[in-house]
Amino acid sequence: MHLHEYQAKALFREVGIPVPDGQVIDEPRQLLPLIDELGLPLVIKAQVLAGGRGKGGGVRLVRTASEAQAAATEILGMELVTAQTGDQGKTVRKVMVEQGIDITRELYLSLLIDRDRAEIVIIGSQDGGMAIEEVAARSPERIIRVQVNPLIGLQGYHLRQLAFGLELSPQLSRELASLLQKLYPFFMTYDCSQLEINPLVVTSTGQLLAVDAKVEIDSNSLYRHPELAALAEPDDQDPLEAEARAIGLNYIRLDGTIGTIVNGAGLAMATMDLIKQAGAEPANFLDVGGGASAEMIEKGFRLLLSDQRVRAIFINIFGGILRCDALARGVVQAARSTGLTLPVIVRMEGTNVDEGRRILAESGLTLTIVSTLTDAVRELTNLKDLQ
Ligand code: GDP
Ligand code: MN
Repeated sequence: MHLHEYQAKALFREVGIPVPDGQVIDEPRQLLPLIDELGLPLVIKAQVLAGGRGKGGGVRLVRTASEAQAAATEILGMELVTAQTGDQGKTVRKVMVEQGIDITRELYLSLLIDRDRAEIVIIGSQDGGMAIEEVAARSPERIIRVQVNPLIGLQGYHLRQLAFGLELSPQLSRELASLLQKLYPFFMTYDCSQLEINPLVVTSTGQLLAVDAKVEIDSNSLYRHPELAALAEPDDQDPLEAEARAIGLNYIRLDGTIGTIVNGAGLAMATMDLIKQAGAEPANFLDVGGGASAEMIEKGFRLLLSDQRVRAIFINIFGGILRCDALARGVVQAARSTGLTLPVIVRMEGTNVDEGRRILAESGLTLTIVSTLTDAVRELTNLKDLQ
């Protein structure tokens, strides 16, 4: 789960990580009292879950009240297109109004999980303010990586390595140390999977300040952080993914046209490989779970049918706990009640498979029933032109 900049900064403020003063608004008329409170210049920033807002026109430094009003009016409600939003862009529903900072240096700082080494990695660079991928491509020597073993935690030598690499003065080195001594525990406590401050700026008065904040929380940990789960904004969620979550299905939307219903995450991944091997593209990942009921299958079916892009459905189930006859009944029930017209390929194997196939065959529905993965690929190949 990604947090909005204003949400991340509010959490930063709570733990004493320095951020500019500011507030979030969703209507231009809320701006005037803020101009009095924060003074000028101000920065007006679009709150969308995508990077590159500055280049896309979603971040504006304004020096007068009328400029501020114009910027807020323009940005609120706009479809902001950035390098990360895709062509349609994202609707801006909130803007952050912040004190404009007099910036002398823009640094880059992030914390990530290094899965290969099972460590936390802190990345710093003197080239803040631009995409780190660009820095990595152009001048990789300007990227500093510091590995932190989570069992040992953040140590003095990690901090010195960073401060040295960033060529910070003794004063700024102490500030960076103090900031990281709050940021590292923040990363661990909130089960972050990524945290990026770009830019981390040096102000004209010599202070470090987090001018931007991108925080991603591991969604699997949200049960431990109900206060974070509550921050999710309905507009940011894919409606189908939200619906799937509500009915307890493990569903991820993808870009293709072949809807899939599979039991078990491993088989679901393999199924997507099969679809691609056949030259088609999956419309989703859907794991109905090892013990899914006929009712779950029906719910999954309805979910796929409500996705306009789905042109065909591939059901790939190994009946273990979920017996094939129960699956078959779920499929028939769902197909009847939804008035299904799309082509459906069913590959079924496992417990009660004969009974399952009999139920499907006698249902009167036009289903393509296959028993091996090779047959499934052949049938999918016939469907690939449905894109
Ligand atoms: P992003 O483009 O989505 O990463 O948004 P940022 O919050 O990083 O803002 C983009 C750029 O706007 C920053 O790299 C800064 O150069 C500039 N910027 C943001 N806030 C301020 C500010 O308070 N003062 C000044 N002078 N520039 C700012
Ligand atoms: Mn940024």
